Amino acid sequence: STATSAQSIATAEAHSAHNYHPLPIVVATADGAWVTDVEGRRHLDMLAGYSALNFGHRNPRLIEAAKAQLDRVTLTSRAFHHDRFADFASELADLCGMEMVLPMNTGAEAVETAVKTARKWGYRVKGVPAGQAKIIVADNNFHGRTTTIVSFSTDEEARADHGPYTPGFETVPYGDLAALEAALDAHTVAVLLEPIQGEAGVLVPPPGYLAGVRELTRERGVLFIADEIQSGLGRTGATFACEQEGVAPDMYVLGKALGGGVVPVSAVVSSREVLGVHRPGEHGSTFGGNPLACAVALEVLEMLRGGEYQRRAAELGEHLHRELALLPGAAVREVRGRGLWAGVGIDPSHGTGREISEKLLARGVLVKDTHGSTIRLAPPLVITKEDLDWGLQQLRAVLES
Ligand code: PLP
Repeated sequence: STATSAQSIATAEAHSAHNYHPLPIVVATADGAWVTDVEGRRHLDMLAGYSALNFGHRNPRLIEAAKAQLDRVTLTSRAFHHDRFADFASELADLCGMEMVLPMNTGAEAVETAVKTARKWGYRVKGVPAGQAKIIVADNNFHGRTTTIVSFSTDEEARADHGPYTPGFETVPYGDLAALEAALDAHTVAVLLEPIQGEAGVLVPPPGYLAGVRELTRERGVLFIADEIQSGLGRTGATFACEQEGVAPDMYVLGKALGGGVVPVSAVVSSREVLGVHRPGEHGSTFGGNPLACAVALEVLEMLRGGEYQRRAAELGEHLHRELALLPGAAVREVRGRGLWAGVGIDPSHGTGREISEKLLARGVLVKDTHGSTIRLAPPLVITKEDLDWGLQQLRAVLES
C-alpha cells in the first residue's frame, strides 16, 4: 500500500467500527522493541501489545518456529490428533506445575472456558445444586469482552447496553479479604482474580492478599482461578505473578504472550480433577490448539524454561521503577506495578493520559493511557537498558514541558 498515515487512518475510520481510538500512527514494520510507520519513522514500543509481545516484535526464534510449521501443517481441527499437540499440552502443564490444559485462542475465550469449567466442576464434583453455581470476582476487573465477561465487569463503558447480563457472579472489592470471606457460600465454585489488575491501571494487591485468597478458597473447597493473561509469562519478573506471592492457584488462565505475538494462543491449565470434568462435545474451538499455535507456543515455553526473560524483567523492572520514582512529583501522583510493568498516575494538571500518550508519540515513544490519567508502561522484555532509558527520558521531557 502507498497510502500515507493520514489516508490510512481516514479509510479505517470510514470502514471500521470505532470500538477503539488508536493513537495516530500507522505501523508498517517492526523488530524487537521498535516499530516503523508508513512514513519510515521509528518508534519505541513501550506497550508491547498489552504484554502479547513480551518477547518483542518478530522474535527470531518464534518466527523461525512459525515458518518451519507453515511448511508442515497449520490446521487439523481437534477432529484429529496432530504431532505438536502432545508436547504443547504436556510442556505447558509442566511450566504451570499442573496436569492438564485446555487450549483456546483469545484471552476472553480462555476466561469463558475457566468459567464453564468451574461451574461444571461445581455441579459434577462439589455437588452444587443445578443452576446455583456462584463465581466471585473483583471490582475493576478486566477479563475480556464476551457477553458473560462484561456481565461481571464494573466498568460501565465495557458493560452498558450489552445486556441482558449473565447471572451467577458476585463482585467484591479487590484486595479486601474480609469481603471475600463474607461472599463465600456453599454454592461458590470459584474465585476469579487477576493477581495484578492490568487494565485497571496495574494495581498490585496488598501483601498477603493472594496468599489469603489461597487459604480461604482451600478451606472452603472453592477453586482459585488466576487470570495471568496479562501478568503471566515473564512480565512481572517471574513466570507467574502468583509465584512471587508464594501462591499456587487451582487454575491458570493464560493468553497474550503464549502466542509470542505471532498467533493468538490461550489456555486454561489445571488439575486432572478439574479439567477432567469435560467430556467430548461439551466444549471446544475449531482453532484451539492448532498446529501453528502449538509450534509457536512450544517455542515460547522453551524460551521461558531458561528463565532469561523473567530475569531480564526483574532486573530491568527494578531499574524502571527506580527511575519512575525520580520523575517530577508535581506531575506524577503515583507509580504502581512490578517487574517491567508500571501504571503511572499523571496529575490531571499535566494533561490527560491521552494527551501525554500523543506527546510521547510525537517524540517516538508508544504507550497507551488507561482510565483517564494513567499511563501504562509494558515494554517488550527484550528491550535494551539504553532504549528503556531513552524512552524514560522522553517521558520526563513530556512531563517537564
Ligand atoms: N484477561 C486479562 C487479565 C486481560 O488483560 C485481557 C486482555 O487485556 C483479557 C483477559 C482478554 O484477552 P483477549 O483480548 O485476548 O480476549
